[in-house]
Amino acid sequence: MSIDVHVHPWTRAFMKRNGPIMKACDFFKLDVSELPETTDQLLVEMEEAGVARAVILGQDTHATKNQNFKNYTMKNDEVAGIAARSGDRLVPFAGVDPNAGGDALRELKRAVRKLGMRGLKIHSSANSVYLNDKRLMYPLYEFCEDSGVPILFHTGTTGLGDCEIKYSKPELLDEVCQSYPDMKVVMAHFGWPWPEVAVAVALRNPNVFIDVSGWRPKYLPQSVFPYLNGPLQDRFLFGTDYPMMRQKEWLGDFEANLKGRLKPGVAAKLLSGNAKRLLSD
Ligand SMILES: [Zn+2]
Repeated sequence: MSIDVHVHPWTRAFMKRNGPIMKACDFFKLDVSELPETTDQLLVEMEEAGVARAVILGQDTHATKNQNFKNYTMKNDEVAGIAARSGDRLVPFAGVDPNAGGDALRELKRAVRKLGMRGLKIHSSANSVYLNDKRLMYPLYEFCEDSGVPILFHTGTTGLGDCEIKYSKPELLDEVCQSYPDMKVVMAHFGWPWPEVAVAVALRNPNVFIDVSGWRPKYLPQSVFPYLNGPLQDRFLFGTDYPMMRQKEWLGDFEANLKGRLKPGVAAKLLSGNAKRLLSD
């Protein structure tokens, strides 16, 4: 049974309220009528696909200047509530808006200590904050390193419209990881179009993981594949970016196009073993 580390607990109604997300649906050529109507549908789809657990990601843009993201926040209480009703099948990561300064750190502490959330998600392009911003980001990093809270970062380009990818370049995380060597980091989407940089950052920083979400396995770039199959086989993570990509669809493509090319043991590490280590299960 696999663990999907990159799931958005979005409903169709929530997505329709967000112009940048609707642009992502266009980007992925999605049929809006097939988007989930309720968050319960996620559990049904996981069951059908054989996915045992999933990390659901919070998001917070309440203090962000970019008005296109004014409807984008999902409250941590809501995300933690969805996880609590799942019987341990959903693992909640908090969202905070770094633009809120001290309030962001307070909210992160509350999410971890009071709500029992298990990690942090940062989409720096949605927040218009550079990943290596010392004033806004480093206090969050300090808490995460000290508390053993992993951070999943969006890295590289994004399907989301109305924002800029310069904030999410994987090279910015090298400086961060050198400053916080014990912090567990996930670089989502292997930082494309800078996958070699993401791989280099992971090779230099042993607590950095890479998730393959948002990509069909058959399109995995050749510059990434040898590392998944070799020196970084303990650090690659299965993720879908649900509901932009569905679990059944991803795993079917994996069986058909990628599994047979992997060395013995690598598939199990990718699908669940590495995620268990990330989540300290
Ligand atoms: Zn995502």
